[in-house]
Amino acid sequence: MSNLIPLIEVDATRSNPSIRLAKGMYQEWRRIIAGSMIAVFILAPWLELNGAPLLWMDLQNRELHLVGLTLWPDDLLILIWVAMAAAFALFTVATISGRLWCGFACPQSVWSMLFVWVEEKTQGSRHKRLKEQNLPILKRRLIPLLTKHFLWGMIAFATAFTFVAFFETGASLGMAIVNFQLDSELIFWLGFFAVLTYINAGWLREQVCNHMCPYARFQSVMLDEKSLKVTYNEERGEPKKGSGDCIDCELCVQVCPVGIDIRQGLQYACIDCGACIDACDDIMKKINKPTGLINFSYPGFSKNNLKDLLIARGKLWGYAVCTLLAGGALLLQLSFLETLDVHLSRDRGQLYFYNSQGQLSNGYTLKIHNKTNQTKQYSINSITHGLSLEEPLSIALKAGDDRTVAFKVQCSVPCELAGTYNLEIKTESHDKLDRKTLISRFFAPR
Ligand code: SF4
Ligand code: SF4
Repeated sequence: MSNLIPLIEVDATRSNPSIRLAKGMYQEWRRIIAGSMIAVFILAPWLELNGAPLLWMDLQNRELHLVGLTLWPDDLLILIWVAMAAAFALFTVATISGRLWCGFACPQSVWSMLFVWVEEKTQGSRHKRLKEQNLPILKRRLIPLLTKHFLWGMIAFATAFTFVAFFETGASLGMAIVNFQLDSELIFWLGFFAVLTYINAGWLREQVCNHMCPYARFQSVMLDEKSLKVTYNEERGEPKKGSGDCIDCELCVQVCPVGIDIRQGLQYACIDCGACIDACDDIMKKINKPTGLINFSYPGFSKNNLKDLLIARGKLWGYAVCTLLAGGALLLQLSFLETLDVHLSRDRGQLYFYNSQGQLSNGYTLKIHNKTNQTKQYSINSITHGLSLEEPLSIALKAGDDRTVAFKVQCSVPCELAGTYNLEIKTESHDKLDRKTLISRFFAPR
């Protein structure tokens, strides 16, 4: 296992100075996935479901709005199941095909790809950019250079805006900017995220993957001998044997976002983005050779025996079962998600007393929390035969509000109770959607 991904010395200065954008099937998939992720990210603070944005971390009211659900600190278990299901799903994908997440969906890769695309559109091909990089700054084409940095800045600001909007909502943050009402805290976070995005996606790029990301460090433990990794078919490609298919065009190196040469063997820095596969396939088509000189593969892999991918893979099945279990637990937890939280307690001062009408009474305190996104009206009643509230009780609560109310329960005349009884108190919203019945004790003289 330890030999599966050889650990090579990582050179902190190694990088691809000017990435060439590849074209091909894998890059199409990368663009589709990246485009969908960016669209969801940008729209999440704006699109509303059940009266709240798709994602809104309302710290002031201690609420988390997530695709139509409103979660409270006591719903934390749901987030734990979400995190566990996501982690095991990631491990499953890693066991199937290495760092597929890193290459296709990780925000660092997605944003870096977007920045490289801007670079190519403004400053031209890799060749042009490389040539210019060696010139003194004043001899470079300044307009394309400045346009690139301006567009990078705009993307960085849009990213920062969206991050902050997750805490403020898109509409309120937008209004604050338009009306020049940003406070110093918001200005700080907007600046912080914008600078971070600009530096990460514009300058650091693969250095983040190589030196900062913890996932790169431990992902190799999830692989087994049948994990599909981007691999160079050395037997077929090696030109030194005279009849190799590799023409040493170096395109696979030029398109590599982490600046490695996959022909040197599997390397942990490889993020399995498939760019080298697309670049090489393109060359193979041009020289009338079969594609697949570089491909997702493992030793002994055959496209005609895909069933083999599922056999004798304890780790894969283990992760898959854990993903299903965590996903099942999440669904179960969601099915018990409460929209109304009620706590009932008995007044401890006295066991019982007689009210002004001479009726036997007990005192109670009820705490009601409206966990929905709408204002609700609740009525509170006793559903125990012979026991009723001294006065009808109805409470209006705004979305997310809670209130504590005291009330008395009296025994109907003539009261024949003696000793202790179960008292059932039902709280129900007027739209009948939320209800909860709690049990307490009612004391009478023996
Ligand atoms: S792209 Fe293919 S042909 Fe060109 S150097 Fe890489 S492996 Fe060889
Ligand atoms: S070696 Fe190929 S798959 Fe790996 S990071 Fe470079 S381009 Fe992507």
